[in-house]
Amino acid sequence: MLKKYIFVFLLVLVCSCGDSDPQSSAVFIGGEIVNPTANNVVLFKGETAVDSAFLDENNRFEIRVDSLEDGLYYFLHKPEMQYVYLEQGDSLQIRLNTVAFDESLIFSGRGEVINNFQLEVFLDTEKEEQVIREAFFQLEPQSFSAKLDSLSDRKVAQLNELQEEEGFSKAAYDLAYASIRYKYWTFKEGYPFWHRRASDDKTLHSLPDDFYAYRDQVSYSDPQLTYLRPYYDFMKFHIGNLAFMGCKEACGEKVTRVTNQLHFNRHQLQLIDSLVHQETLRDNLFRTVAIEYLLKHDSEENFEVFMEDFHQRSANNRHLPEIARLGQDIRNLRPNNPLPPLQVVDVQGEQHWLRDIPREGQQIVFYFWSGPEQRHLKNITQRVRQLQEHHPEYRYVGICMRTDMDQWKSLMASYSLDPGDQFLAPDYEQFAHALVVYNPYKSVIAKDGIIIDGFANLNTSF
Ligand SMILES: [Zn+2]
Repeated sequence: MLKKYIFVFLLVLVCSCGDSDPQSSAVFIGGEIVNPTANNVVLFKGETAVDSAFLDENNRFEIRVDSLEDGLYYFLHKPEMQYVYLEQGDSLQIRLNTVAFDESLIFSGRGEVINNFQLEVFLDTEKEEQVIREAFFQLEPQSFSAKLDSLSDRKVAQLNELQEEEGFSKAAYDLAYASIRYKYWTFKEGYPFWHRRASDDKTLHSLPDDFYAYRDQVSYSDPQLTYLRPYYDFMKFHIGNLAFMGCKEACGEKVTRVTNQLHFNRHQLQLIDSLVHQETLRDNLFRTVAIEYLLKHDSEENFEVFMEDFHQRSANNRHLPEIARLGQDIRNLRPNNPLPPLQVVDVQGEQHWLRDIPREGQQIVFYFWSGPEQRHLKNITQRVRQLQEHHPEYRYVGICMRTDMDQWKSLMASYSLDPGDQFLAPDYEQFAHALVVYNPYKSVIAKDGIIIDGFANLNTSF
């Protein structure tokens, strides 16, 4: 999904200091990238790049680090990233094909078992998610809980079996265990809201006393978990759930839905402030709430109130510059502003300012796609064709990001896109930021270079 790379989510990793093995503390990670989308691979820990390597002519790379703390890392082959758990002495080969990034990935070598297991859990739960959404959320709370517990227990049993055979370190085991448990607990945090939608109830279902029993085991302070994706996702839902239920109780409002974003998000800030004391996790959660709130486009006045509260609770947040920049980018996209000064390239390789794209007095709808996201390209092309039929008064202009000229041209040909309506953005980060492309169907409507709607959506605005 576009948003995954656009806000370069810091959903990263863990630091752990296991016992050291003086004989072979070096860690090797290498392998082959089929259909590369970048010329290098970067190994990260948390938000810090540890090392990187360029691909050679056979698309192979090698990273060797003399000494590395045990723990969760991730490697980035732009725009995709993937977690990898590393311990001293590990020597891992990776093979992956960017056309189906996660599905194609295979680890081999020392350290393969825990990594392949984690990957399998990730892919499995991704598949289950559809069933959970389509079939489980309608169930009554007890049956829902029982279904999820059984899925979760089955995976933990597999982990325990592997643990007996392979003897993972405690840190590796704990991390894999947390990946499983938190993933399913996330569904439980969301259940009351999703159940209401799935069952057309007007109110939230009352829950049995032990529905949230797992909350006793939730950690708010384990630095090993801070960058673990299933844990972080859980925390977001958990805080959201607590904020909503807490508001119902404390503010005595008959709230059934979040209608006042400022009010709800201030509850979220207050909860993070009181519950979470691990600094990185705290900063990251505050950041997520701020960014999500900003993207709701509450009034500028409310935004100032929110930011004041934010600064009071998180004065030294490491993400303040990013949040300030996003706030400014959003202001720049308000109606009646000129389009940001961005340059695109046409099929002849000539540069144009975005605001100068020929339009013959028409309103232009800019939409976005990218080479590595072909499923999205297919969907958005279909959607644009529908819109062209029903709303021919607009001109639809596609901006392609993260793709080189040759691939761009060949994709235009395969999807029968009119090159006259297509442009290439050479610097996608600049584009993604300036036009705040946070949703795959995000679009910008402009006329004569002036913004009419900076936050349109191809699926909902027409
Ligand atoms: Zn409230």
